Amino acid sequence: MFDPLIELFTAVQAWLFETLVQPVFFALGLMAYVEQAYEGVEVFLIGLIEIGLMFALLRPLEAWRPAEHWADRRAVRVDVLYTFLNRLGVAPLAVFLLLQPLVDGVEGSLRLQGYIPPSLEDLLPWLADNPLVSFFIYLALLDFAEYWRHRFSHRFNWWWALHAVHHSQRQLSLWSDRRNHILDDMLGDLWVVLVALAIGIPPGQFIGIVVVTRFMESLSHTNVRMSFGWLGDRLLVSPAFHRTHHGIGVGHEGHAMGCNFAPLFPLWDMLFGTADFSRRFPATGIRDQLQGADYGEGIIAQHVRGVQRMWRALRRKAPQAAG
Ligand SMILES: [Zn+2]
Ligand SMILES: [Zn+2]
Repeated sequence: MFDPLIELFTAVQAWLFETLVQPVFFALGLMAYVEQAYEGVEVFLIGLIEIGLMFALLRPLEAWRPAEHWADRRAVRVDVLYTFLNRLGVAPLAVFLLLQPLVDGVEGSLRLQGYIPPSLEDLLPWLADNPLVSFFIYLALLDFAEYWRHRFSHRFNWWWALHAVHHSQRQLSLWSDRRNHILDDMLGDLWVVLVALAIGIPPGQFIGIVVVTRFMESLSHTNVRMSFGWLGDRLLVSPAFHRTHHGIGVGHEGHAMGCNFAPLFPLWDMLFGTADFSRRFPATGIRDQLQGADYGEGIIAQHVRGVQRMWRALRRKAPQAAG
């Protein structure tokens, strides 16, 4: 069913590569990197399609039933820029493609010594014939790892100093998911890639998982007064559930330094006592912004301030008590 679409995609990728990318690489004498460049074009095209789909499907939701009405949308612009930089650039996909040869090498030499890295299909052979089931198992395992990465980024002051860039948006929208400090992003990418490799996710599955997860995360940041109902909210992260995570004084304080950490499945928050299903659509941001704390308006200011906060957090010997 998807074959004609895949053919079209490959044709566009080849055309872009041959007319624009290859001549430039040739002129600069970079022919040794031509294979990576071809993969780069793929990442770029997938990003472009994702942004198109996001806008086409989610923007109407924001117009239909916004959680908040804004007099002007200026604060959203910086998140649009974050999205384009991240989706069209070096995303986890690219890190994975870059790391794969290295991992293949390590795996190969381990196999020579008689060690076989764990793989779900080896443990449960019937999974090989049920790609949809194995897709969901991998999705759930990665989501579980992401839940804990996210909790740690609230728990450790130096990491929160970076993650606060994401939380400092007072106008949460479909664009806000990619608003992250680049160091926070790199830690996140590394985490995902290590987990993906440790549990042996086949690259084809990984790309599907990344695309599904990213779309759902854009939906969960969308400025829309929407929950999936009593049961639905417990099965899948909704805009109501994730907005609570961004609520001033709600999503970054308390015994766990926040609530609703799961990217896709609220199950993890329910299991580990961090779920809040109250659906109150709170104002978003960080409490000290109400007292005038400035997290910066542009990407550069936000990055500089993030590093400054991290530096201060690392220099403080005793961890600061939760507010
Ligand atoms: Zn968070
Ligand atoms: Zn968020």
